[in-house]
Amino acid sequence: MKQTACPICYEPSNRGHTKLFVLGNEHQYQIRECSHCKSVYTFFDIETDMQAYYEDENYKLRNTHKSIFYRIQAYEYKQVIRHIQKSITPKHPFLLDFGSGKGLFLYFAKQSGFDVKGVETSIPRADYAKATFQLTIHTDYYTEGKIFDESFDVITCFHVLEHLSDPKNLLRNLVAANLKEGGLLLIEVPNFSSWQSKWAGKYWLHLDAPRHLSHFTPLRLKSMIEHIGYTVIKEKYFSFHLGIIGMMQTLFSFFGYQRSLIIDMKEKRSLGLLIGIIIAFPIALLLECIASLIKKGGIIRYYALKNQKTI
Ligand SMILES: [Zn+2]
Repeated sequence: MKQTACPICYEPSNRGHTKLFVLGNEHQYQIRECSHCKSVYTFFDIETDMQAYYEDENYKLRNTHKSIFYRIQAYEYKQVIRHIQKSITPKHPFLLDFGSGKGLFLYFAKQSGFDVKGVETSIPRADYAKATFQLTIHTDYYTEGKIFDESFDVITCFHVLEHLSDPKNLLRNLVAANLKEGGLLLIEVPNFSSWQSKWAGKYWLHLDAPRHLSHFTPLRLKSMIEHIGYTVIKEKYFSFHLGIIGMMQTLFSFFGYQRSLIIDMKEKRSLGLLIGIIIAFPIALLLECIASLIKKGGIIRYYALKNQKTI
């Protein structure tokens, strides 16, 4: 695929879009800001095999069951589940996780009594979720219409929208056909206007071009959610596993580090890396806590409800 227009408002890139960064050895990817709607996106005009990017080393399926990552994610997901239970009436709702990955969030939601289903187009990840957690996962590529027979009380999208070529349209179709009246929509994406993004620039962990096609700010994400008829009722900007690691990588980037900290933590556990992490962790934690208070944390997590029709 190529991406030569704004994925949110479709305005062509040649209409004065601002070039923010140039990435890649051959300068093949650019981060641009749309002059019309101010959305930030990855521009590339060379035909790119996206499938290959999803099969490369950085995206390989790893069994992290019972690892430190697993424990941190478990803690974080259980908090999200409590927030969902506080936000809607059914305490054991039907929940659809769109882009369910290895099924970890669905597993914890199921443990809390939710009736859960997932959508995941990566077959190895979907198979892992089915085999490890006995989950029901739909694997077809979604464009529109109903996915399962039932409608859902909650739809969650963790780190999905930034990967889509037409995120607003897909989100509109997804909730219109699959979310019940009064249902809750939960969206989490990386925060392009976070401190960790601004400080690391093109070395930000969550820039991840070209897999990330859009780079959302709170303002742009909220505007997109409102545009499809939903209102944000709760917002969070703090994530233990993605926010802190993102900030640690930003701190490392000040010393010339240009690799992915997530991959290195999983595969290259050298003494130097361990010492670096021990030193950086408390600083990253403190900075992320302060940043998230002023909407500058590494992620944006919005809980949204459909706008009430006025008579
Ligand atoms: Zn635009």
